Amino acid sequence: MTGNKLDIAIAGAGIGGLAAAALLAADGHNVVVFDQFAEPLPVGSGLVIQPVGQDVLAQIGALESAVNSGSRITRMLGHEADNGRRGLDVWYDRTGGGHRGFFGLAIHRAALFRAIHKAALRAGAQIVPDARVTTASAGLLTLADGRQEGRST
Ligand SMILES: Cc1cc2nc3c(=O)[nH]c(=O)nc-3n(C[C@H](O)[C@H](O)[C@H](O)COP(=O)(O)OP(=O)(O)OC[C@H]3O[C@@H](n4cnc5c(N)ncnc54)[C@H](O)[C@@H]3O)c2cc1C
Repeated sequence: MTGNKLDIAIAGAGIGGLAAAALLAADGHNVVVFDQFAEPLPVGSGLVIQPVGQDVLAQIGALESAVNSGSRITRMLGHEADNGRRGLDVWYDRTGGGHRGFFGLAIHRAALFRAIHKAALRAGAQIVPDARVTTASAGLLTLADGRQEGRST
């Protein structure tokens, strides 16, 4: 750990909030994630994780699980429906270069969420459901039911 141990509150246990929680908790901080959901849930259907996002998954120890649940994409090609014109043509790893080899990782959000959620818990982050944050000010979070969390509690 670098520096003092901090008490850190995160509003929202989406993939961003949970990945931040995993990194901060692994760095030794006390991390609590507040979310409005009644239980942890992924939002949406599927997405493609680019190499830079895969690096974050590797840092929190969730890459292997995500790769095992997803599909490697080497090229994304899209045509406009109206006229067939090429609108998107992205190649990964055209040269085969890079120490790991680059690819897009197509994954269902539920599988990605599971991997990151597990990493956040493993790192020691606490996740508090039924906690909709209405304001955050001066180190204090106020929840919709009037509860206040933070420095002065
Ligand atoms: C249709 C679509 C396709 C996408 N495709 C891709 C893709 O292919 N690749 C890619 O990298 N990205 C993609 N994205 C973007 C990606 O989904 C977002 O960048 C990512 O989900 C953001 O993560 P997040 O944790 O910030 O927010 P979210 O995943 O949206 O999570 C937010 C969380 O905060 C909680 N919350 C919200 N308000 C409150 C509150 N007031 N109090 C408490 N909790 C609260 C919610 O319940 C939720 O759990 C796509 C997005 C959309 C909409």
